[in-house]
Order: sequence, then C-alpha cells, then structure tokens
Amino acid sequence: MGVIDDLYRRALLAVADAGPVTGFVKQQGRHLGVSRFVAGERLPEVLEAARTLRGEGLESIFDLLGEFVDTEADAAAMTGEILTTLEALRSEPGERYMSVKPTQLGLGVNFDLGLRNARRVAEKAREVDARLCLDMENAPYVDGTLRLFRTLQDEGFRHVSTVLQSYLYRTKDDLNTLLEISPKPTLRLVKGAYRESEAVAFGDKAKVDQNYRDLLYRGLEGGATLGIATHDESIIRETEAFVRGAGLDADRYEFQFLYGVKPALQKRLVGRGHKVRIYIPYGSDWYGYFSRRLAERPANLMFVVRGLFG
Ligand SMILES: Cc1cc2nc3c(=O)[nH]c(=O)nc-3n(C[C@H](O)[C@H](O)[C@H](O)COP(=O)(O)OP(=O)(O)OC[C@H]3O[C@@H](n4cnc5c(N)ncnc54)[C@H](O)[C@@H]3O)c2cc1C
Repeated sequence: MGVIDDLYRRALLAVADAGPVTGFVKQQGRHLGVSRFVAGERLPEVLEAARTLRGEGLESIFDLLGEFVDTEADAAAMTGEILTTLEALRSEPGERYMSVKPTQLGLGVNFDLGLRNARRVAEKAREVDARLCLDMENAPYVDGTLRLFRTLQDEGFRHVSTVLQSYLYRTKDDLNTLLEISPKPTLRLVKGAYRESEAVAFGDKAKVDQNYRDLLYRGLEGGATLGIATHDESIIRETEAFVRGAGLDADRYEFQFLYGVKPALQKRLVGRGHKVRIYIPYGSDWYGYFSRRLAERPANLMFVVRGLFG
C-alpha cells in the first residue's frame, strides 16, 4: 500500500507540473472544488473563515498563497501583501498567527533579500502581537530557511518558528541542532509535501511515518514546543497518550490541520481539551497548494472528478 501511495503521489505531482494541466485547472478552479481547501481569494473571506472556526474553538494560521518568487520586485510585492494581512489581523480577536514561505520573501533570489524581507515581516508580526512561522519548501531551500530562522532567533525574534519535514534524511540532525537553541524553539513537524528524490528523502512511507514519531518524541523530550501538523490518526492518538503520560503542559504542543481536512476529528480533539489550529490558505495563487492536496489522497482526486462530471 505504501508503494502505491508513493507512486500515486509522485505521478500526481509530476502531472500537475505539466503546462496544459496547469492551464486547465487554473481556469476551472471553482468547479474543481478548490474552495474545499482554499478559504478564498481575498482577505475578507479568509478573516470570515477564521471567525467561523474560532466560534468552534479552533485557532487559525493564515497563509497567503504564492511561492517560488524569482525576482526582487515580486518578492517586494508579496512581502507587501503579507504585511497587509498582518495589519488586518491587528483588529481580530484571539491568537494571531501567520505562515509565510521563505521564497515569497525572496530567498530564491538571494539570502540577503530573503532576510531583509523576513525581518520586516517579523517586526510587523511583533507589532500586531502575531506569531510567525517560516514554512518549509522543497529541499534546495531547507538550508536557507534554517539559516533565516537561526538568524531571526539570534536577533531576538522569539515569536518566529519554522517547520521540519520527516521525509528528509537530514531532519534528525537538523532537529538536534535546533534543540541547542536557548530558550528552546517552537517548531512545526510535518511529513513533507514536495516531490523529492531518494537522494534526500525516504521513498518508503512507513519510514517517513516512523521518522515522524522519532522526531516528535525527540522534540517534545528535548524541550521544543511542537505544532503536530499531521492528519495521521494513529500518530495523533499516540501523541495524546504521550502528552498525558508525560504530564506535558498544554502550551508545549498543539495539533495543526489543513483547512478542510478531517473537520470532525479537529472538533473531537478540541472536545478532549487539546489546542487545535487550522492552516487557512488564501489568495489567487492556489494552484501549487491545491495540487499538493490532491497528491496526498486519491479520494481528493475523485472529489475533483465528481466536481467536473457530477
Ligand atoms: C498545518 C500544516 C502545515 C503544513 N506545512 C507544511 C510545510 O511547511 N511544508 C511541507 O512540506 N508540508 C507542510 N504540510 C503538509 C504535510 O507535509 C503533508 O503533506 C500533509 O499534512 C499530509 O500528510 P499527513 O501528515 O496528514 O499524513 P498522511 O500519511 O499523508 O495522511 C494521514 C491521513 O490523513 C489523510 N489526509 C492527508 N492529507 C489529506 C488531504 N489533503 N485531504 C484529505 N485527507 C488527507 C490521509 O488520507 C490519511 O488517512 C503541512 C501540513 C499541515 C497540517
């Protein structure tokens, strides 16, 4: 089953990169059920989605879609939009939390540009009392993202966190290095969403899952605060047992879900007293995000097909 899952995921991500497919899906987005995973194209829609979630006891992470920016001008424009979102959060009640992709800030152009824009965003987040997470993108950006994170930590931006991916071989070492930071960092743990080669990532899903568990326990025992960002129900159950057994403080972990995925489970976890945070993507540049969600589960593709023909 693991091998078939992996083949499906790789095939879907490869097809999604093909020009004609991209054009068709971008045109037909509304019919293809994009709104199940993307809260809206505009900021007011996403603020409304977050208010609805808050009414159900769920916290949010705002994520402006758009990635792999490759010019300084585009990075400036994207940074401007992120600053606008943070400003809009200022007047929202509850916890404020935004995630950004380092390439949106210009990391793919050069490190210094990424750092300059990351500082602007981190300063704005501090001003509006928001937390900020540097998402982890594909393998070529992992070093740069971790360097951005370390630099911001050293400069005192303690409200900034980042993400580790359990499909990468290197992540165990990265976690051990990050656990040397004092005070201990806040990290999100994911399995990883990009198409990576076996030179850098486990091809076998069982190994990705096992590594997730190892990183989860190592991170919690090592003192990090963790966002446990998975929809894997067996890992979630094991985490619940672990935090109970270890008597871990409630502020040392939270469960994180993608918008639209397993909403009943999200509510059950809230009912059992856990903090649950929903990652809410929005914006017009939804294609890459949407195709990664289809790659995660064959049933999501069937949902699209039903939207087309149903
Ligand atoms: C809050 C959050 C933030 C993330 N940030 C990043 C990031 O910065 N970088 C990165 O590389 N990845 C990120 N991801 C994506 C992550 O890497 C995985 O691709 C994704 O979460 C699917 O893996 P899983 O852990 O749910 O486990 P899986 O083993 O893939 O799935 C576990 C179960 O959940 C179901 N499921 C999984 N995905 C979906 C879906 N889309 N729709 C319906 N059911 C689904 C599966 O069918 C299965 O039953 C993030 C995920 C979350 C939840």
